[in-house]
Amino acid sequence: MVIANYHTHTTRCNHAKGSERDYIETAIEKGFEVIGFSDHTPQPYPPDVRSRIRMDMSQLPDYVETLLKLRDEYKEEIRVLIGYEVEYSTAYFEKLLTELGKYPYDYLIMGQHFVPDEVTGFYTGAATDEEEKLAVYTDLVIEGMETGKFLYLAHPDLIRFTGDPEVYTNHMRRIIAHSVQNHYPLEVNMYGFTDYRWYPNDLFFSLASEMGASFVFACDAHDPELVRQPEESVEFMEFLNRNNIKAFENENLLQKLQTLQK
Ligand SMILES: [Zn+2]
Ligand SMILES: [Zn+2]
Repeated sequence: MVIANYHTHTTRCNHAKGSERDYIETAIEKGFEVIGFSDHTPQPYPPDVRSRIRMDMSQLPDYVETLLKLRDEYKEEIRVLIGYEVEYSTAYFEKLLTELGKYPYDYLIMGQHFVPDEVTGFYTGAATDEEEKLAVYTDLVIEGMETGKFLYLAHPDLIRFTGDPEVYTNHMRRIIAHSVQNHYPLEVNMYGFTDYRWYPNDLFFSLASEMGASFVFACDAHDPELVRQPEESVEFMEFLNRNNIKAFENENLLQKLQTLQK
């Protein structure tokens, strides 16, 4: 059973609903022991660029303060963590760390929605059969993992490749090999089940399972009602376990939190 969820959003990203308190109370009701908020990070883009899918940098203090208060209020019932879902980019990552570091937080997860970044790049989830896009996505994800700043890799299979499955597995194998060597858990994004998305991708996860990767299941909740473990995820756990009986990481990640470099 999933008892920790490290992937929860807030209304600041402009495409989620409900209050932080609603997410926390649902998590308690559903038996979670850990709820980590990892809203889409603000990004230090040039002043004329405005992203509509993330909070503004000016909202950082409110995000952190709201969660610190709730963490304290609910401390007897659940562990509340403060994090961010971050696109890694060579252009903005260092500056971003400086901005985020002005306030306390517990972790970052990498969710690579844009390559090489949102300002100049393409959306990872747009269907494509171009190997070049798959290759640059893979390179960027590995570069991001190599920074050592991330707790895990969110929806590694967000890239929506519609070309030759062999080309797909050749590149995905590079991400998975890196994750196995460096003990980077790969996220099974349960929002994909509830929203009928193209991920979790069976091909990706059967390969990852064969290669000995470890997995973390996450709600990627943009709605308090989705702080739960959907039925499909139970089947998916069985599917992964056929090849790989390694424990899922949801509980062990708390230890990794301690070792993350900020
Ligand atoms: Zn989102
Ligand atoms: Zn997310």
